[in-house]
Amino acid sequence: MEKLLNELSSECKAAYEINCDMETDVSIPDHLKRKSDLGLPNAAENDLLRHFTNLSRKNYALSTAFYPLGSCTMKYNPLINERIAKFESFNMAHPYQPAETMQGILEIMHGLERDLCEVSGMDAFSLQPAAGAHGEFAGLLIIAAHFKAIKEKRHKIIVPDSAHGTNPASAAFAGYETIPLKSEPDGSIDIEKLKEVLTKDVAAIMLTVPNTLGVFEKEIVEISKVCHENGTLLYYDGANLNALMGFARPGDLGFDVMHINLHKTFSSPHGGGGPGSGPVGVKSFLEQFLPVPRVEKKDEKYVLNYKKSKTIGSVKAFMGNFPVILRAYIYIKALGGDGLKNVSAQAVLNANYMLAKFKDKIAVPAGGRCMHEFVLSPKAANGIRTLDIAKRLLDYGYYAPTVYFPLIVEEAMMIEPTETESKETLDKFIEILNKIIFEEAVNEPQKVKDAPVNTPVARLNEVEAARKPTLKWK
Ligand SMILES: *Cc1c(COP(=O)(O)O)cnc(C)c1O
Repeated sequence: MEKLLNELSSECKAAYEINCDMETDVSIPDHLKRKSDLGLPNAAENDLLRHFTNLSRKNYALSTAFYPLGSCTMKYNPLINERIAKFESFNMAHPYQPAETMQGILEIMHGLERDLCEVSGMDAFSLQPAAGAHGEFAGLLIIAAHFKAIKEKRHKIIVPDSAHGTNPASAAFAGYETIPLKSEPDGSIDIEKLKEVLTKDVAAIMLTVPNTLGVFEKEIVEISKVCHENGTLLYYDGANLNALMGFARPGDLGFDVMHINLHKTFSSPHGGGGPGSGPVGVKSFLEQFLPVPRVEKKDEKYVLNYKKSKTIGSVKAFMGNFPVILRAYIYIKALGGDGLKNVSAQAVLNANYMLAKFKDKIAVPAGGRCMHEFVLSPKAANGIRTLDIAKRLLDYGYYAPTVYFPLIVEEAMMIEPTETESKETLDKFIEILNKIIFEEAVNEPQKVKDAPVNTPVARLNEVEAARKPTLKWK
């Protein structure tokens, strides 16, 4: 390290003929020096290559198999996105570069904001939030800023009990009291029950449409009217936008604020917690509160405007998660309006095809039709639970569906096939799931309870893994 620093310091001086701030004779203080051997494995390049290649083969990925993870929209991520994202002009750009030198990047951001407005029916977007949950938080801060500006004291947010856990969490994080609303068995809202909790101190209601049972909220226009008459705003959780594009727009349904999970609907590789992007969109009366910087066009040039007096401030460093923003932009431009509409049509068709194959045999809490995803409630023989079925699916080479969510469905198993899977893939999965539930659970229950056996690690003690994780390699 000392040698490196000294080299750098003389290189720097020679190269720029300037007086670098570095000391010429760099020495690391004794107390910072390691006293014992680090104990790194001593491996040849060849062994190292094999080690990492073999590890990567243990990865489960969309590029190897079907990923029916409900609510996560694990669709095919076009490889053209990756090729363009590798361009040096994008990935070598620096956020401190002057705006004149990144006009192309700003044009893409500005263009994506306009496209998202078109798809969603909102009037303005900020691309800054780094995930859906982060967009929710930003949206709720905007709602708080709005009520502060019009001097109304409202400290409650209504969240249906079918909602994603991030909804009540974001509400609490933004300083609100969460009021749970019991939903109907198909996840929809009963207007009479809503009216009981819709008091004058309710700032907003957070809704997911279609809801987490994959059912479109038929009363949404009436719900929106009732809320607005009470001065309450509507927040749209955009995670299920893959069901609606080109058919309905949250802005037209009466929503005032929303987020879009770019990594879900607009195809970026994601999973295991990132990377994501959760742009927050608003109707025009809330635009002044959007996070800064805003990308604006002035005299044919794009600029970053930090000076907005009513803004909630910045929710992330710089301009957002640009690599995900870029992929979403490419995806939208490649498909166009008709293409996006086709995405939603095919996603809904695929889900209904699967649901139709299951509904006579496996309990389906929300009836016989769905939007882009659906929830099963498998009641298998011999005490086999949904968790066991999900684990057994791993043995057959599938990623497991989302289980035990939404919380309002007993033994829930949530499946979202997405538009990018073929009929053959869906048929094979249907066959295997039926086999586990109706043959193996009946005839070989122990095999299902012991699953998985074909994976690199067998069934984990999940409680212990969460409470006492092993975080060191030795
Ligand atoms: C994924 C999801 C979220 C949270 O989005 P992140 O990008 O994971 O933070 C919120 N609501 C629903 C319904 C979701 O599926």
